[in-house]
Amino acid sequence: MVAANGGLVIETCSRCPKPSVLFQEYSGQHLCGKHLFSSIRRRVAKELRAQLELPKDARHQDGSSYRIFAAISGGKDSAVLLSMLVDIIGKRRDVEIIAGCIDEGIDGYRSPSLELARQLANDLGVQFETLSYEEMGYERMDEVVRRMPIMAKNQDEAKGMMPCSYCGVFRRQGINALAAKVNADVMALGHNLDDMAQSILMNLQKGDIERSVRLAPHTAIPIDGLAPRIVPLRWIPEQEIHAHAVCAGLPIHHGDCPHAAGAMRQLSRGIVANLESITPGARHGLLHSLDQIRVLHRAVHPNNSSEILNCERCGEITSRKVCQACTMKDWLIESA
Ligand code: SF4
Ligand SMILES: [Zn+2]
Ligand SMILES: [Zn+2]
Repeated sequence: MVAANGGLVIETCSRCPKPSVLFQEYSGQHLCGKHLFSSIRRRVAKELRAQLELPKDARHQDGSSYRIFAAISGGKDSAVLLSMLVDIIGKRRDVEIIAGCIDEGIDGYRSPSLELARQLANDLGVQFETLSYEEMGYERMDEVVRRMPIMAKNQDEAKGMMPCSYCGVFRRQGINALAAKVNADVMALGHNLDDMAQSILMNLQKGDIERSVRLAPHTAIPIDGLAPRIVPLRWIPEQEIHAHAVCAGLPIHHGDCPHAAGAMRQLSRGIVANLESITPGARHGLLHSLDQIRVLHRAVHPNNSSEILNCERCGEITSRKVCQACTMKDWLIESA
């Protein structure tokens, strides 16, 4: 805001005299760092209770702790996720939080962010695990991108695929493998409100209600053999997460992945941002709509297990005989 004398006026927090760091357009409130933190923490704690109903003593029969695996990346969202989890339930003696980061093999992007993820876990006193695409039997993502034109020439299904189409499939396998390795009871992901709204919009424009209905959280309808996913940040806008991560001094990587350009999500990001600026609250509206669609869907398909099979090669859960990850692994071998 500009004052009459031409100087900049910093807005004050709507709840205290401190300077505001963020304006919540949809609520009309200005928030300082401390009140932004308490506002986010309250919403995350509420959502965590709704998604993860833990008994008073969540330990297993053998006395081992209930294990939450947090998939982190060195980025702001998963940093806020992990720090909030530790802050909200980290002191419980019956619950253990473990963090893990996938190394996709992207030069200039992954190594600095992986080190920041490790630092965050260390700062919070949380066990930290990593797994790379090479360790999983794929190639580094930089090499996958180099081979994409060859794979597209060899395989019709690979035509028009973007780097994120491969990376998303490999990463999903990777975090499942890490969660299985640490015996996780549940997996926490750092998806924020903008991510959710973008996914809902992308699925709707493809006419894919099923995919939207299958978005996390999964605790109400767990899939056998998979640690159910929870998304405690799903109501928190990206901008608030970013402002909080900066105010709280969390170690986060600010760079973007060099392979992200051209991804469908980038388009959707712009559309959601436009929608929100025209009608503040649009992102919340999209997510509320999904929750209602989910209830209706469950009422119509009470026993819906939507064709869940196990990949005949790797055993992962899939809707086809050979899962997408194993199929892509074949393409990579063929393109070597
Ligand atoms: S932007 Fe795409 S290629 Fe880059 S890390 Fe994310 S999913 Fe992988
Ligand atoms: Zn304040
Ligand atoms: Zn497979």
